[in-house]
Amino acid sequence: TLRAGVVAVQGDVTEHADAVERAADAHGVDAEIVEIRSDGLVPDCDVLLMPGGESTTISRLLDREGIADEIRAHVDAGKPVLATCAGLIVASRDAKDDRVTTLDLLDVTVDRNAFGRQVDSFEAPLDVAGLDSPFPAVFIRAPLIDEVGEGVEVLAEWDGTPVAVRDGPVVGTSFHPELTPDSRLHDLALFDELAVEADA
Ligand code: GLN
Repeated sequence: TLRAGVVAVQGDVTEHADAVERAADAHGVDAEIVEIRSDGLVPDCDVLLMPGGESTTISRLLDREGIADEIRAHVDAGKPVLATCAGLIVASRDAKDDRVTTLDLLDVTVDRNAFGRQVDSFEAPLDVAGLDSPFPAVFIRAPLIDEVGEGVEVLAEWDGTPVAVRDGPVVGTSFHPELTPDSRLHDLALFDELAVEADA
């Protein structure tokens, strides 16, 4: 059984838990969901999810509860993370906002709410590297990824800007793959990355 930790200090936690369960089913693996609200749980997790929500709140609580350092150690050990929207903001190198202490898991900088200034939320079919048909991407006050480091692979672009990126074991999306029934992105980011085989 794989342990999937969902960072649960704030944000759309149940949606991520449901999505990772669907992805595990599709992949033929057993997954146990662990909701992370305090320290001591991350070290036992095989994969981690960082939900959307409010990045200022999430980063403050991760720091206060001592979870931030544990997430960094998880990534240093090469274990997968999927970070969406506010999760991507927190996982970035810099969000150019004093209220967000970023974890620097992904070598990108982001502009919080940049898409939101143009249009609050929208859904678009997105071509994603590694998926054989478009993914229904839901954007809600989404961050703009404005600088992408050398080692970062752009998995998808919208309107000429990156909206899904991979940096080693960490995948970040500006949009919310947890808000549609399609669990392929969770599968791609977490289970493909672990190269887990279906349970015999
Ligand atoms: N704009 C939000 C933030 O800065 C993120 C929005 C979302 O996660 N849907 O935290």
